[in-house]
Formats: sequence, structure tokens, C-alpha cells
Amino acid sequence: MEKRRVAILGSTGSIGRQALDVIAQHRELFDVELLTANNSSELLIRQALEFDVNNVVICNEEKYGEVAGALQPEGIKVFAGMDSVCDLVTADNIDIVLTAMVGFSGLRPTMAAIGAGKPIALANKETLVAGGPAVTALAREKNVPLLPVDSEHSAIFQCLMAAAGNRITRIHLTASGGPFRTWTREQMSRATSADALKHPQWNMGAKITVDSATMMNKGFEMIEAKWLFDMKPEDIRIVIHPQSIIHSMIEFADGAVLAQMGHPDMREPIQFALSFPERLSLNNRKLDFAQLGSLSFEEPDYDRFPCLGLAFDAIGRGGVVPCAMNAANEVAVAAFLQDRIAFDAIPEIVSRTMDMAPRISSPSVDDILETNEESLGAAVRLLPEYEL
Ligand code: MG
Repeated sequence: MEKRRVAILGSTGSIGRQALDVIAQHRELFDVELLTANNSSELLIRQALEFDVNNVVICNEEKYGEVAGALQPEGIKVFAGMDSVCDLVTADNIDIVLTAMVGFSGLRPTMAAIGAGKPIALANKETLVAGGPAVTALAREKNVPLLPVDSEHSAIFQCLMAAAGNRITRIHLTASGGPFRTWTREQMSRATSADALKHPQWNMGAKITVDSATMMNKGFEMIEAKWLFDMKPEDIRIVIHPQSIIHSMIEFADGAVLAQMGHPDMREPIQFALSFPERLSLNNRKLDFAQLGSLSFEEPDYDRFPCLGLAFDAIGRGGVVPCAMNAANEVAVAAFLQDRIAFDAIPEIVSRTMDMAPRISSPSVDDILETNEESLGAAVRLLPEYEL
């Protein structure tokens, strides 16, 4: 593999840190050109020095002085604000862009990078949930590969490499079930943010861990799979698989199913997206099937996890409704993490905000940006009704 020059958007988050861990093991294959972070200035400074990057963006402009003071004497250029991210990702010295920001904020820089023809290692699923039609249309137009980093989508993508062009009839999207898999509705109504943050299998950031607890994450992933693999939502089956060993599966017309497996470790899909189509060594735990003993599967419970049904409803209504769903979810999850609302208020706020979304059949990026703003506001206005 020829050396690749990498931009990491969101380098201080869980995915960004694990990506740098992967790169640290293959220094001869990757140069880190650009790192961006929202707020975590201290970690950003340490990363920039360790990987000797050329450019750094701190999105929070109030922290510019601190970051510039530490890095400019070392010859590292420092910028502030989201406009700088959108500008710098298009630079000639970047071969691949890892989009690992949290939430809707990933949409603009992802569109900018696709517009400049950069291959995308896509870790920011909200970009496809909110902007799927616009993002995939631009990627097709620019002939830009969207390389999935989400473990399920990486699994499907890897299985598709073995499909040799044969059409797939179904996707089996596996879900761990999250920390509340065996909880009753009653128990879940009293769940705290600390309960929701105890994910049984995956080590991830706070927002996605709460999304896993509500299973909104799996709803988002169904929408992500629809856009990435051009599948009908009804052909995407969600199956609970508590051990998280099978990362997802594809099925052909003859009933044959291909699965991709491994211990849950995000570094594997991150590394494959960065090195695609080659595979590199990784110091992870390898599977021992006899030691695993058995793998189990269950039907998802749409009553206890209403966010799953909301996601199918949102993609069925189409247009900007998934964008409104995502915006309301961002507001509700943030409020839940601050212990301001109950766990079961999250789907209610999401559902009511979705109902307020305008009907737009083929939304432009501007429609999506506008719906996001309006839906954030609408969800915030609903919060007082649910305040604990
Ligand atoms: Mg996932």
C-alpha cells in the first residue's frame, strides 16, 4: 500500500483516538495531515505533537489562543471554527478523510470533502441519517467511495466484497441490545444516564452509548445501511445478538448468508476503512470459537424500544423527517445525559418533533440544514414538559 495522507475530523473522540492508535502501529503507511476537535484542546495539542501534523482546527473559537500558543512555535498551523474544517478538508495534501465528529455537525465538512473528491471513511452516521439523499447523490456524482467505519456497515461492506456482484436480497443487521436488553419498560422509565452509559459490549462515546440504550442507534444504522447499500428498509432485518461477535450479515436469493465476525473492537473497521482494499496486521484479540461456545439471537422488542419503530417510520415518510428525528434525538439525549428528562421521554420528544417536520420530497442541503435548525428549536421547546 502506498502511503496515505489522512485527515481526522473529530480526533479527540472515541473513534478519532482509536484511529490514531491504528495509525501509530503503521507509521510507515500513514501521514496525519489534519486533526480537528470541537473542544478538547489539551488532547488535540498532544495528538498534533505526537503525530507531527501540518494543520489543526479547534472548532470552539474561544480555545484558539491556547491551541495556537502551544502548536505554532512547533511549526503546526492552527485554525478555528467549522468553516476552517470545511476549507482544509479539500486541500491537495489529503488522500482520505475520516469523519468521526459527533452528530449533525459532520454534514457540512463531509459534503465539502466529497465535493473535493476525497474518499470518506465514514464514522459519522448522523450525516447519512439526516442528509442521506444529498450525501449519496454527491458521492455518486463525484465518484467518491464512502467507506463505512460503523462496525455493522463495515461487516456488510466486507461481505459484499465476497458477493462478486451478486444481488443481495436481505441484510441482517445485528444489535447487542444495549444495557437495557433485559429491562422492563417500567425499569427503563427510571433509568439514569449512569445506567445507560454502561454498555455491555462496545466502548464508545456518551452520545452513541445512550443511542444504543434506546436502540435509536440501530434505527440510525438501518437508515445508514439503506443509503450505503441501496436497500429497501423492509429488506433490512434487525436481530439482537448479545455477544456482538457477528457484526452483520448479507443474504442472497438462494438463502446463502455471509457473516463477518470478530471480537467487538472498533479499531478493526477503522483500520480497514483506512487501508481499504488491503488488510494490515492489528494487535487485537482473535476469535477462539470453542472458547466462545455459543452465539445467540433474539427478535428486537419494538414496544420496549420505540425508537426502532420511529426510525422505520421516519425513513418511510422520507424527505427531511429523518433529519428532524436526528435533531430531536440530539436534544433529547443531551437533556437525558444531564439528568433533566427521563429515559422514556426521549422517544416522545423525537416522535412529536418528527410530526412537526415539513413535507419535502427531494430535500437539498439547505432544506436539511434548515430542518435541522427548526427541529432542534422545536425539541428544545418540548423539553420543559418532560423536565424532571
Ligand atoms: Mg454500529
